[in-house]
Amino acid sequence: MKGVVLALIAVIIVAAIGIGVWYYVSTPPPKKLLKVGTSPDFPPFEYIDEKGNVVGFDMDLIRALAKKIGYDDIEIITMDFDALIPALKQGKIDVIAAGMTITEKRKEEVDFTIPYWNADQAILVRKASDFRPKSPDELAGRKVGVQTGTTGEYYIVDYENRTGIDIDIKSYSSFVLAVQDLVNGRIDAVIVDTPVASMFEKQYDVVVSAIIKTGEQYGFAVRKGETELLNKLNQALDEFMKSAEWSKLVQKYFGSG
Ligand code: GLN
Repeated sequence: MKGVVLALIAVIIVAAIGIGVWYYVSTPPPKKLLKVGTSPDFPPFEYIDEKGNVVGFDMDLIRALAKKIGYDDIEIITMDFDALIPALKQGKIDVIAAGMTITEKRKEEVDFTIPYWNADQAILVRKASDFRPKSPDELAGRKVGVQTGTTGEYYIVDYENRTGIDIDIKSYSSFVLAVQDLVNGRIDAVIVDTPVASMFEKQYDVVVSAIIKTGEQYGFAVRKGETELLNKLNQALDEFMKSAEWSKLVQKYFGSG
């Protein structure tokens, strides 16, 4: 009798171990994802393609960097541009990849990687109109669209305050909405980063009428104090920008390398 009980116990133990091993082997470990926040209205850096996917230069770049530093993939979380820094601070995302200009003011709230792109501001107007301002003072009395919380908005608000020139500034939650209003004639101009203005020129009946040299540089942003993540991203970004993959990526989204 004792022998039977012992044998039974042995069988149970072996079966339990077997099940345990099987479970361990057959259940893949959870994927390690880098949570990337973006505002997909900034082509070619981030936009929504015909299939409804969030794609773009920034998305490809941050995915490549994430893989280089040990993540399986990225998880893209979209929101309005001005919600990105608060979301990062609250821990809803790990990185901002949104053509974000490195500014002293933002540096008080987030840490930026090394820069990966240069930009200025463009004055974008409707092709069909004959309004072709060559400098911001010609925007006096005009309706000018910007995206909330962007350097374009900061520039034109500051310009108005500095010069006393009265501009009717309209802030939009997204650049795409601003450009649509420009095409429809509801506003007279849009102030937007130069590389994105060039892309809008190809997609809509709009044209760059002037460039305002602001000398901006884009970086990815992480939470203040996330030094390990920042250092890893910086190293990966530095290596990537020197590689052939970088020229391929630039070619893919800008058509030149
Ligand atoms: N580069 C601009 C900024 O940082 C605009 C970025 C954007 O709209 N995605 O404010």
